[in-house]
Amino acid sequence: MSITQYIEEKQGTKLADLDNKAIYLALMDYVKEKASQLPKNRGKRKVYYISAEFLIGKLLSNNLINLGIYQETKEALATVGKSITQIEDEELEPSLGNGGLGRLASCFIDSMSSLGINGEGVGLNYHCGLFRQVFHDNQQEAEPNYWIEDDSWLVPTDISYNVPFKEFTLKSRLNRIDVLGYHKDTKNYLNLFDIDGLDYDLIEDGITFDKAQIQKNLTLFLYPDDSDKNGELLRIYQQYFMVSNAAQLLIDEALERGSNLYDLADYAYVQINDTHPSMVIPELIRLLTEKHGIDFDAAVAIVSQMVGYTNHTILAEALEKWPLDYLNEVVPHLVTIIEKLDALIRDKYSNPAVHIIDKDQRIHMANMDIHYSTSVNGVAALHTEILKTSELKDFYQLYPEKFNNKTNGITFRRWLEFANQDLAAYLKDLIGDSYLTDAMKLEKLLAFADDERVQNHLAEIKFNNKLALKRYLKDNKGIDLDEHSIIDTQIKRFHEYKRQQMNALYVIHKYLEIKRGHLPEKKITVIFGGKAAPAYTIAQDVIHLILSLSELINNDPEVSPYLNVHLVENYNVTVAEHLIPATDISEQISLASKEASGTGNMKFMLNGALTLGTMDGANVEIAELAGKDNIYSFGKDSDTIIDLYAKSGYVSKDYYDKDAEIKEAVDFIVSPELKTVGNEERLNRLHHELISKDWFMTLIDLKDYIATKERMVADYQDQAAWNCKVIHNIAKAGFFSSDRTIAQYNEDIWHSY
Ligand SMILES: *Cc1c(COP(=O)(O)O)cnc(C)c1O
Repeated sequence: MSITQYIEEKQGTKLADLDNKAIYLALMDYVKEKASQLPKNRGKRKVYYISAEFLIGKLLSNNLINLGIYQETKEALATVGKSITQIEDEELEPSLGNGGLGRLASCFIDSMSSLGINGEGVGLNYHCGLFRQVFHDNQQEAEPNYWIEDDSWLVPTDISYNVPFKEFTLKSRLNRIDVLGYHKDTKNYLNLFDIDGLDYDLIEDGITFDKAQIQKNLTLFLYPDDSDKNGELLRIYQQYFMVSNAAQLLIDEALERGSNLYDLADYAYVQINDTHPSMVIPELIRLLTEKHGIDFDAAVAIVSQMVGYTNHTILAEALEKWPLDYLNEVVPHLVTIIEKLDALIRDKYSNPAVHIIDKDQRIHMANMDIHYSTSVNGVAALHTEILKTSELKDFYQLYPEKFNNKTNGITFRRWLEFANQDLAAYLKDLIGDSYLTDAMKLEKLLAFADDERVQNHLAEIKFNNKLALKRYLKDNKGIDLDEHSIIDTQIKRFHEYKRQQMNALYVIHKYLEIKRGHLPEKKITVIFGGKAAPAYTIAQDVIHLILSLSELINNDPEVSPYLNVHLVENYNVTVAEHLIPATDISEQISLASKEASGTGNMKFMLNGALTLGTMDGANVEIAELAGKDNIYSFGKDSDTIIDLYAKSGYVSKDYYDKDAEIKEAVDFIVSPELKTVGNEERLNRLHHELISKDWFMTLIDLKDYIATKERMVADYQDQAAWNCKVIHNIAKAGFFSSDRTIAQYNEDIWHSY
């Protein structure tokens, strides 16, 4: 049956007469039906990728692509005058993730399916997601982000477990989303556990809610506010609920497939994505001992052979340390086990830095992971080196064999084949389509680096993507984009270490230059996108600064012909899919040593934007691959920065006092002009922060940043040279396919065949 026939039969109406929603729902059913017929991947050792987040993005188009029927569907719709883009608009983006870590998990499950690996995601089904960002008075506000409709991609199952807490037991319910591989006839699942009895009425103003009513709020929000004790306890409830379900599912499935549990490690491997799922270690030990009669030492030995830990950050505040008391209030049955695990370590090692429970009775989740696992990995070469030589040095000395690097990657199906269809089609014309399954084949493009026709065609595709972005921003975000300007984009979570504030200072500098009559040759549009954690005041202040600058600059007739600033509301995967293919300059300007890898940087490279970046995270590998001449790097290197922290050697006031240009830009934050559109308290606070603390060293790299960006803008005028660099970047992006990353995880860690 053709797709058209299916839709018409399903909805009982001619395709031409159906509205977009009806078509979307019928297509979803079509895909779900196809998926339900596919067999699961088999492979004796099954991978359970446990993650608090999966930032999966919309699913319809991705699934159509992976099933190999996207073009066919697009054409069928076109014959009756419907555009597939409008159908895509009907889908709500799932809100199960926060940022890079959740997006990585999503690229990974796509790649596991595409490589035919028996590997599944396990997480929670948050009904209101992270939050929806809205702007009022140039400030961020947070609203619940409901995304689950009556008909959704979730497939209910009758799988359910009892999860015991101190005061009560909660029954779970498993929903699944099918994860299809690219042109594969097998599938995997994303397993999302949920509770019955969730109560939306607990939500009060914005995203505040009664955090004490665990039995009614457990799966309401991802990362609920944890600035008070109830919030922290709720996170522990969520984490334990997630891992207890994962552990029970894993053991059930292994038993079903013939395990005697002593050989459990032959049947299952757990990848712990950051420390949120760490309690899976004591929970597996608890289930093996209490439910299945295995003695403690044997259980510890079994579990230690089937767990790997991925570290995503060296920011100390992000490494979880739960008070033992809190666990005693929530899951006392794990505390005894964790104490025993700690005692085993104390017997062997006197160094308190490697103990699990510290002198303040806090549990260092990462320490537990490292001791009781087979593998500890960082997510980019530089990050893994920093783990070995500084952050986790003591552990590296104990277990050098456990440490390994797995540089992150992205799925090319979503970030090229879907998001940049014109580029993908042109690449196929030039070098064939083998790059879609063997990404290194993109290197064939190098042969065209100096080919004027190819350079021009790429420029044309970029311009068309800017036009498409213009339409999207106008229809959805109330933004008027100038498609003839250089598009300079910084999209990522708002955090001081990512230094959006440094980019904002560039904008101020440029504004002042234009006001002085130094007019740029080419207009530049600086686009930001990203959410800030609701409790993170400085990040909120930076958002406020950018929104205020945007109002001031875009409405100034002297300046707006040369410079525009936009902050796109509610940044998510869908927004990224529109922005990245239209971007010329990719802003990757974190303070060196602080961005573990980044994956946004890879998406931009693949889509022909040039990187403006520090030597941090995977930027280092981008520079090595593309060649130093094909990216724009600046700033102090990670050794210098780590050294400065060690001796508290950075004083932001010195930079401010010594340089008139820096002082002028920083002081503009509290200028009368800005205060007419901005909030005095927020602007004053940010100004004070930059001068008196500036923990992430904005001012140390500001001059170099401004100079490098100016050089980049000047270079843009030579389009042939620019597009030659673009080609080098695309050609060398193959390494950043998540298929490569996942193949390495499987080769070195999982051994799932
Ligand atoms: C890729 C991606 C990220 C990660 O971006 P970084 O620049 O690596 O921090 C975050 N959010 C979304 C929606 C993404 O697509």
